[in-house]
Amino acid sequence: MSFVPSTALQARIDTLIGHYPPDRIRAASLWLCHLVQDEARCLGPEQVEWIATRLGLPNIDVYELVSFYPMFSATPQGKFHLKVCRSVSCNLAGCGRIVKALKDKLGIEVGESTPDGMFHLSEFECLADCGAAPVAMVNDEHYGNLTEERVLSLVDALKSGENNSGPLAALSPAHPKERRLLLADLPAGNTPETLPQYRLRGGYRALKKALAMQPAEIVEEVKKSGLRGRGGAGFPTGLKWSFIDKKSGKPVYLICNGDESEPGTFKDRVLLHQRPFLLLEGIAIAAHAVGARTAYIYVRGEFPKAVEILEAAIELAKANKLLGKNILGSGFDLEIHLHRGAGAYICGEETGLIESLEGKRAYPRIKPPFPAVSGVFNCPTVVNNVETLCNIPMLIEHGSAWYSQIGVQGATGTRLLCVSGRVKRPGYFEIEQGSLTLRELIFDVCGGLEEGRTLKGVIPGGSSMPILLPDQIDVKLDFDSIQKAGSLAGSGGIVVLDDSCDVVDTTLNVAQFYAHESCGQCTPCREGTLWMEKILHRIHSGRGRPADVPLLLDVANNIDGKTICPLGEAAAWPVRALVTKYRGEFEKACDPSKKAGTTEST
Ligand code: SF4
Repeated sequence: MSFVPSTALQARIDTLIGHYPPDRIRAASLWLCHLVQDEARCLGPEQVEWIATRLGLPNIDVYELVSFYPMFSATPQGKFHLKVCRSVSCNLAGCGRIVKALKDKLGIEVGESTPDGMFHLSEFECLADCGAAPVAMVNDEHYGNLTEERVLSLVDALKSGENNSGPLAALSPAHPKERRLLLADLPAGNTPETLPQYRLRGGYRALKKALAMQPAEIVEEVKKSGLRGRGGAGFPTGLKWSFIDKKSGKPVYLICNGDESEPGTFKDRVLLHQRPFLLLEGIAIAAHAVGARTAYIYVRGEFPKAVEILEAAIELAKANKLLGKNILGSGFDLEIHLHRGAGAYICGEETGLIESLEGKRAYPRIKPPFPAVSGVFNCPTVVNNVETLCNIPMLIEHGSAWYSQIGVQGATGTRLLCVSGRVKRPGYFEIEQGSLTLRELIFDVCGGLEEGRTLKGVIPGGSSMPILLPDQIDVKLDFDSIQKAGSLAGSGGIVVLDDSCDVVDTTLNVAQFYAHESCGQCTPCREGTLWMEKILHRIHSGRGRPADVPLLLDVANNIDGKTICPLGEAAAWPVRALVTKYRGEFEKACDPSKKAGTTEST
């Protein structure tokens, strides 16, 4: 074992290990993998052995992380690791041209490094900035709105030591049809709100009020408000909190799920990067309500800047008695720690996330038991989404009666929506739920389509949700209305397709994502997602046959409802909807009179 980390790294590692229970320090292994990889530039056998020894684990427990998480690598990834997003919105924006330009410029293929070790080229799944597609990351820096010219000059700039990151999806001035509460008065230039700025707008008044309330009162207020989770499932938040087993004698944990990875979804990015104190206040109130004294924010690995911002915010909050011991003199103690993910979509599923937080592969658990009874470290656990928790301070400050009047029955409050694809004005928007239709959002708030284009379809809640046809978008934007229209509001990621989009290409892209992200535990998901990808690849490459269309539907139907976690449905639903609604295009692509025959197996 010859890898020896620097003294500074060892000190940082000691601190991070202290963020987990002493008998659960395996949980720190994702952090150690990140930090050691940053210093050694890879996680080879020496680095793996050092991490395993430091945590008292067999080497295999670290090797399994290196092979599972896309952000870890056993071999060096070059001085500059170019990660080009390939997910649905970037695909619609032409990310293939960006990859080709880089391959030609650097003389390497995807997955290879230049001979001098300067550059390594990868395609990555969703980098969660779909409004600025196509996007890429270079090491920890983020670049949006890429063109071939821009990416080539970026390579030259990196060679000569410059490194200016590009624009993220911009927050445009509020449209009259928006109602901005969470996005109101954000600092310009994608900078984080400071503590004085936050307090000036009333920040931490809600925490003070909450600390004077009984936890059960807070839970009741949240129940009465009608707040539903904003991560995708839309489960009532107060009800979720009420399930927590407070009689077990075990510590209760709160986890903030900041791992948004559903293609087309990038709304939590803005809150994590620009409203850190709002999130910390929401977590503190929620922790008080459920009886947690430790909370973790699981931040997706592709958001390194958010980790820096939140770390600084946590330190500042502690220095101001807004976190830590005896918060605001109330006697309530709370520690909030950050846990950095490493690029696996399945960590967004709450039990997959819990496994990942424990330092393992993100294999979703069979339920029951539910996390409220046995979650992280086998203790009662609440997992809430970033946007959900950011709603809590205003809800408590103004009360459930005020909150429940915003929106409509079954969908109270506002909703962050992120729009990408073929619209003039993509980006973040915040609307009062049920106040406008999907058509109004696209054609009024987002400025409509490019000149001469017509609408082909809209994915209303992230890439896993069934697409809606142009005659289905006069639907109000709230949970129940979208469900009645035949889809789901999901994660709020809206992807717009116009008549220039190749629906077979888009379906293949979506299917490839879920095949890549399947954890492999369930046979229908593991085999079915790969099978759908294979069939779609055959159709896309001109070798499809008429029987492939019903075969795709058959495979999708045999995944749906037969798996441990919702990724099975997430893979089946979009393929089934796209093939059903655009069947003619798939049949045309498989027309034997136009295609060469094939002897490929099914
Ligand atoms: Fe893993 Fe897929 Fe099964 Fe979920 S459905 S547990 S991702 S194999």
